[in-house]
Amino acid sequence: MWNPFLLVYQLIQWLIAKLLSPTPPPPHAKLSRPRVAIIGAGLTGVSSAAHCVGHGFDVVIFEAGPKEHLGGIWARVNNTSGLQIHSLMYRFHPQVQWKKGYPSRQEIVDAIKDVWSTYHLEEKTKFDVKVERVWQESDDRWFVNSEEYGKFDGVIAAVGTCGDPKMPHMRGQEEFEGEIYHSSQLDGKDAEGKKLVIIGGGASAVEALEYASAKNAEKTTILARSDKWIIPRNAIVDMLLAFNIFGQEIYLSWIPEFLLKRFFYRDLEDLAPKKGLFMDTPMVNSDVLDKIRDGSASWLRGDILSFDKTGIWFNQRAKGVPPGGPGKEIHVDVDMVIMATGFTRPSLKFLPEDCFEEPYNPPNWYLQTFPPAHRTICANNCTYVNAIGTVGNYHIGIYTRILLMFLVDPLTRPRPGLMKLWIDFTRFLKIRSPTPAFDFFTYTELMWWYYFCVAINPFRWKWALFVFFGIGDKLPLRVVEAEDKVREVIGIELDSIQKRKDQ
Ligand SMILES: Cc1cc2nc3c(=O)[nH]c(=O)nc-3n(C[C@H](O)[C@H](O)[C@H](O)COP(=O)(O)OP(=O)(O)OC[C@H]3O[C@@H](n4cnc5c(N)ncnc54)[C@H](O)[C@@H]3O)c2cc1C
Repeated sequence: MWNPFLLVYQLIQWLIAKLLSPTPPPPHAKLSRPRVAIIGAGLTGVSSAAHCVGHGFDVVIFEAGPKEHLGGIWARVNNTSGLQIHSLMYRFHPQVQWKKGYPSRQEIVDAIKDVWSTYHLEEKTKFDVKVERVWQESDDRWFVNSEEYGKFDGVIAAVGTCGDPKMPHMRGQEEFEGEIYHSSQLDGKDAEGKKLVIIGGGASAVEALEYASAKNAEKTTILARSDKWIIPRNAIVDMLLAFNIFGQEIYLSWIPEFLLKRFFYRDLEDLAPKKGLFMDTPMVNSDVLDKIRDGSASWLRGDILSFDKTGIWFNQRAKGVPPGGPGKEIHVDVDMVIMATGFTRPSLKFLPEDCFEEPYNPPNWYLQTFPPAHRTICANNCTYVNAIGTVGNYHIGIYTRILLMFLVDPLTRPRPGLMKLWIDFTRFLKIRSPTPAFDFFTYTELMWWYYFCVAINPFRWKWALFVFFGIGDKLPLRVVEAEDKVREVIGIELDSIQKRKDQ
């Protein structure tokens, strides 16, 4: 059906693609240094690589999985999965042009593949290569796994936050006569007319609930250990919530919390958590509450005690009673159990040891992604814990371009001491936050970090348009070349552009 909003949305995306997509290099073009190693071929790795080659810099993408895993986690989840937030906040590269507000899993994978092929990244991707070690020699260049891939000037770790499915083993599970699956492995499984239990109350539970509806399950019960905020699947509401620049609970947080309870939870206010909205990643979904209202789903808070042949014994707790606290013991009859228990976090242990020194261990890094010990490493999108915002958006390009700026312009590079100072300063600003400073942030806070990073160092000012929009890199490069010459004359030894090109 013809939709004027969709038409405007597509026009805007077309304009952004025309104005801000870096021009793809011709196939097999010889690109210049800096050369960047990118670890992971999910949406973040592919987008970062496209930005680098689009600006003329060479990359190699290392992906642990086979070619079918191009697209990362989206290539491995159920067909019924889809984006929870509006695609307006999921434009992971300027070239992406979504056809609708909430694309399906397949559309997301196709969009990632599209960026990958447009920027001729096939010839630069090594599949089935799990990165085990990244190290530096005396010239500050990086090696990845072995010397066979050559030297790299920078490293982007884009390993994501979803590794292998977590499958906890629970008491009595072997006695249970029904089926048990992980929430990411439901393709081909039949749930029609079955009684389903979803264990877990996070984003994976929402995914499992979507599967249950798509497959006409008779009834779905969600067993959640702790309460999480649910926010509507509405772009305006989600963006407004991400506007809290303080990135933490503040004295005004009661306003959105009150509005959500009054107009979104309504009769189901009991399900709203006691803890603040700006402390944990909320679930984005509008259907959960409707399904609970119409009786096709129910949401129980409590602890799993054990399985038996026909179902699960559960200690149902009242609101505010902490996990493990007293409650009412009930039996839930079930045919199929879905473990919405999430994924293990992919390891960053391939990075040098000194990246993990307390108190500057991830996520407590410069801008959350640059370890103070190594400003040429950018852990793009894989160090965050909780946030109100989005994973696949504008910031992927900003982080990549900040790294490129550090690589080509020596005067913009932060010194380890200043990186630590910024971390301590952010901790100080968030001293009253109920969560540690880097364990929760909002998208607007992230933007503030970038503005601060560019504004604080006058040598970075000339890069502002490049960092924020990916345009105007020619002029600052010429300035850097001129600065290189001045440094040569006065005898200051810094890694000059010419020297980088020669090596
Ligand atoms: C069902 C579902 C719904 C989601 N919905 C949303 C949403 O609405 N909004 C949102 O913002 N986010 C959502 N997400 C989160 C999602 O994870 C991110 O949006 C995004 O896809 C992450 O991309 P990534 O490239 O950073 O990581 P991934 O897609 O996980 O890719 C990382 C890649 O790195 C590879 N890798 C890992 N370790 C190594 C190594 N040592 N060597 C080489 N390769 C390695 C992995 O094999 C993988 O291919 C959702 C996730 C799921 C599963």
